[in-house]
Amino acid sequence: MNISTATLHELAAELKAGNLSSVELCQSCLDAVAQRDGEIGAFLEINQDNVLASAKAADERRASGNALSDYDGIPIGIKDNISVKGERCSCASKILENLTSPYDATAVERLRKQGFIPFGRLNMDEFAMGSSCENSAFQKTRNPLDTTRVPGGSSGGSAACVAAGFAPAALGSDTGGSIRQPAAFCGVVGMKPTYGRVSRHGLVAFASSLDQIGPFTRDAEDCGILLDAICGFDKMDSTSLPDAAGGFADAARAGAATGSLKGMKFGLPKEYYSGGIDAGSAKVLDAAIEKVKSLGGEIVDVSLPHTKYAIAVYYIIATAEASANLARFDGMRYGCRIEGSDLTDTYFKSRGNGFGDEVKRRILLGTYVLSSGYYDAYYLRAQKVRTLIRKDFENAFNACDMMLTPAAPQVAFKFGEKSDPLQMYLSDIFTISLNLAGSCGIAVPAGVDENTGMPVAMQLLGPAMAEAKLLQATAAFMRA
Ligand code: GLN
Repeated sequence: MNISTATLHELAAELKAGNLSSVELCQSCLDAVAQRDGEIGAFLEINQDNVLASAKAADERRASGNALSDYDGIPIGIKDNISVKGERCSCASKILENLTSPYDATAVERLRKQGFIPFGRLNMDEFAMGSSCENSAFQKTRNPLDTTRVPGGSSGGSAACVAAGFAPAALGSDTGGSIRQPAAFCGVVGMKPTYGRVSRHGLVAFASSLDQIGPFTRDAEDCGILLDAICGFDKMDSTSLPDAAGGFADAARAGAATGSLKGMKFGLPKEYYSGGIDAGSAKVLDAAIEKVKSLGGEIVDVSLPHTKYAIAVYYIIATAEASANLARFDGMRYGCRIEGSDLTDTYFKSRGNGFGDEVKRRILLGTYVLSSGYYDAYYLRAQKVRTLIRKDFENAFNACDMMLTPAAPQVAFKFGEKSDPLQMYLSDIFTISLNLAGSCGIAVPAGVDENTGMPVAMQLLGPAMAEAKLLQATAAFMRA
């Protein structure tokens, strides 16, 4: 078997059959990282000793008939804003460069319960602000399919890790598209679960009302396997959903078994198809729509009239929340501290040196829209428009089971191509509304752009709690 392309369920079968040990699997992943990550730059750090010790323990459990699950001993890459006890968690920022996590994020704790092994700290845009990984304070991550291009962002390290064959799956976070867009750019599956589905405890907050942790995988079943592992109520996150969750891998298996989309209605929001996407991607998307029809799916037209405000609303709400969340990084309790002549000077020097330009831009914007005299005009109004965007989604889902849209306006772009921040912000045009609406979505590899040879994804957007249906459809589509 080729470990660099194997899925979680294939690896689980090999482990179970005794054809592969966890130590062999993890060593093979570490070797792949040693060989190629110098060029790709997906990892900020990887603690080999910890990984191999965990792998050895997993092998011992399995040998004595005490495997924690079918997946005991499989490595999972972790984005560097998700806490792993005893390891550093920098959010790719100088201000947290030396912070060590005192506890596991709930998602990580739940992975460990099944025996999954946290595998390295994956690069990202600083504090998850960006769409290309170019905002990391430490390094560039390159797209494994074309190293002159970005892997997307902010979870670019996670996408690159799975695409480059370094680990079979990874966790990322999605505030405005940070799982779906890099998954699309690197040709892997990436899901943003419904807000509240996965606990945010231990995820360093960017915009708390939008952030969600989710999986990067090589197929739909794996996405279900990871979501099954990490989802569910957590008393440590007051926004965590009380609903019983699970059955996601089974839903994907059912989709793969039938290969049929019969009885499913796919809405095409007309605002997402009114230009603004490059010709090569449009061609792949057209073919994907035809394929959905040929598998028995029904296509209907829907409309999201307030979608045109999504970028503006997002960059008010997300920056407002970020300015509040990042206020705690002041050189007193965490990370970098640069001593000044007095307290205020210490704040200025620590924050001035610790944060990169994009993060400073967001803090300034966010502080501005929350300030007295501007609050009503910007923040309050943005909240009202957010409600309209959410209602648009609810209305659209009255007419369809899920929406089928582009994931990004273009394929992975080249380094430096979007030097103007607004250009960068606009690249999230197809992903951002979903976070504002709070429901779930998935980027599904759909084909290759004939001009660049780069992957193109379709995006499926579902109502709240519809992950099972999305995974069923994704599995059926990918089988075909
Ligand atoms: N690219 C968007 C931003 O810069 C979304 C990032 C994310 O989802 N974390 O804010």
